[in-house]
Amino acid sequence: MGAGVLKDAVAGINTWATQGLRQTGPMLKVGEAYGTLAFSDKTQQARLPKAVYRSLRDTITHGKALDISTADAVATALKDWALEHGASHFTHWFQPMTGVTAEKHDSFYNPTGDGRTLAEFSGKELVRGEPDASSFPSGGMRSTFEARGYTAWDPTSPPWILMNGNNATLVIPTAFVSWTGEALDKKTPLLRSMEALSTQAVRVLRLFGSTASRVTATCGPEQEYFLIDHNFYFARPDLINAGRTLFGARPPKGQELEDQYFGSIPERVLACMAEVEAELYRVGVPIKTRHNEVAPSQYEVAPIFESANVATDHQMMTMETLKRVAPRFGLACLIHEKPFAGVNGSGKHVNWSMSDDHGNNLLNPGDTPHDNMQFLFFCTAVIRAVDTFQGLLRMAVAHAGNDHRLGANEAPPAILSVFLGDMLTDIFEQVEKGGAKRTKSGGLLDMGVSVLPKLPRDAGDRNRTSPFAFTGNKFEFRAVGSTQNVAFPSTCLNVAVAESLDAMASELEKMLAGRKGAAAFNEAVAALLKKTVKAHKRIIFNGNGYADSWQKEAATRGLLNLKTTVDALPEIVKPGVVRTFEKFKVLSERELHARYEVNLENYSKTINVEAQLMVLMANRYILPAALEYQKRVAESVSAAKQAGVASKEGGKHLTRIVGLVDRFRALTETLSTALDHGSPSAEKHARYMRDKIVPMMGALREVGDQIELLIPHELYPLPTYREMLFVK
Ligand code: ADP
Ligand code: MG
Repeated sequence: MGAGVLKDAVAGINTWATQGLRQTGPMLKVGEAYGTLAFSDKTQQARLPKAVYRSLRDTITHGKALDISTADAVATALKDWALEHGASHFTHWFQPMTGVTAEKHDSFYNPTGDGRTLAEFSGKELVRGEPDASSFPSGGMRSTFEARGYTAWDPTSPPWILMNGNNATLVIPTAFVSWTGEALDKKTPLLRSMEALSTQAVRVLRLFGSTASRVTATCGPEQEYFLIDHNFYFARPDLINAGRTLFGARPPKGQELEDQYFGSIPERVLACMAEVEAELYRVGVPIKTRHNEVAPSQYEVAPIFESANVATDHQMMTMETLKRVAPRFGLACLIHEKPFAGVNGSGKHVNWSMSDDHGNNLLNPGDTPHDNMQFLFFCTAVIRAVDTFQGLLRMAVAHAGNDHRLGANEAPPAILSVFLGDMLTDIFEQVEKGGAKRTKSGGLLDMGVSVLPKLPRDAGDRNRTSPFAFTGNKFEFRAVGSTQNVAFPSTCLNVAVAESLDAMASELEKMLAGRKGAAAFNEAVAALLKKTVKAHKRIIFNGNGYADSWQKEAATRGLLNLKTTVDALPEIVKPGVVRTFEKFKVLSERELHARYEVNLENYSKTINVEAQLMVLMANRYILPAALEYQKRVAESVSAAKQAGVASKEGGKHLTRIVGLVDRFRALTETLSTALDHGSPSAEKHARYMRDKIVPMMGALREVGDQIELLIPHELYPLPTYREMLFVK
């Protein structure tokens, strides 16, 4: 069967190679197509009455509450626009705590009673929806008899039209809350955290003499993913149900050639990427870059940054579009953090900064950062935030999938630290000594070829091993997993930085009491920065995050090293975190506990599903094949014996196979029995899964992979790593 799947894949690839490109249709004119399916600012301006447009803009840019007459007018325009694009339904699209998105489609059309049907859509329907909340996790915040939950239109994120073969749906981004107003989703806390950050950042800007009135958290998430032939995908129960391979011997060493990274992209893959991008452009997602990643068959897509909540919606749409479009090209998109053991996993780099309403990036150092006190203030606040909230930020990226990545010497370590690079480190060292006087320059890069221009060089190289790196004019949170919704990591960053800005602003205000003038101000800021940098510089680390010495050094610096999800999750309910989230009204203690419970349960569920799948695959795929091969070898050995030839090696081979099969069978049984287990609490259960089940899965896999390497290709029922990663 393995061979059959390979044949199907090859046939598909051949068809693609000879006919594929001709089937893809005309090339997309990006300039014309961009945003045509989004109810963007431009569309709003064109289609809304002037007063309505102004009032909506006021809501979007200044957070002013929306009145119902505006909502009614927007609803009518939105409906007309959607119907013109062929939409028959609308949906309130939301992001429950499960990690994926949810939607319930309602028709615009209502029967009129005389056999006709009329399209209707009111402001009330736009503003509020009521899905059955009981089917979504609430982390114990409500029981099923108080199932009411509401979706509330988020006017700051533009609606769009989802084209799906023979139908079109108007998608309305919403936040999802319970009847009591508690956040049941990932969007609500993000929006609340953006408000909190804005308030504190504006307060700081005022101290620096700025007239800005609003600050927006900006986010540009880079997405890594794998594309493999879908014939292989469908032949692997583990890929279908767990998103990652649970068995699979590693391909021969050295096949993972470095030339994959930024190498040329295979034609079929490129065509698929282009189609994904075309769909995303139409709905207004500003995709910018695409390239190969480090592992074979691994790729990356990144947009231009946007306000954090719009970026979050667009990021979810990007993942969904990748999955939806890939099959059209005979491909399957794998977004899991670790689809293939022993091969680089996938992450999501969350680039993050803050922008004021005059368009200034608050983390832009300018040419002479040493005398850019405002930049140094904001940058110090971020450093302080990462140090103070290490545990929270580690928790924000903790889940079963990411446990395979963090600390596995291919992704950042589980220890949070900040990479600043040579230039900024030098400046902060000066700050700590009392004031920065100069900026180190990188100079010009001379390539030694006279026709090539001399390029300005950055004052420091990049560092791929850091979980949180300053990259020119933004921070890059690199520990985020590829499957994750970026809302929660962004929320945590926003809250952590809001707290820092608040604390630093309060202190500065105190220092300035009764003092006036630029000199006094500069002196106070320098003193505050000096003190803050001194207190938090332990979090700054520019070295190799993969080195063992860093683990030791981090321990002497007192940094947290929370190795697994189970270690990291409790950070979300630590008193300091609860106090801060409550102070900035982002999440209450109950809402935080709910998230703790949902995450804990997700962890145990994931491991349970994977382990059960392993038992299933062991019993129904690998063991039968192994037994068949064992029989063949036994027959061959006894045939030789009957012919009067004693095959010493044949006997040894048989002994080896029998030994492996016995071990494999026994380990399968042990795992299966161990899964039948109850725990007195969710915490205990998660710990049991980590300490007992995960190691058993590892042991079973090891023997399974040895069996794979032993039995003939035609007998092995699963596509191999070599096929999945290199046949494309
Ligand atoms: P790098 O080469 O450092 O990865 P890129 O320019 O390729 O930088 O940007 C990577 C991602 O960072 C992109 O999604 C980009 O839009 C985003 N980004 C750039 N500036 C900002 C910013 N001010 N805030 C948030 N994200 C940003
Ligand atoms: Mg990057």
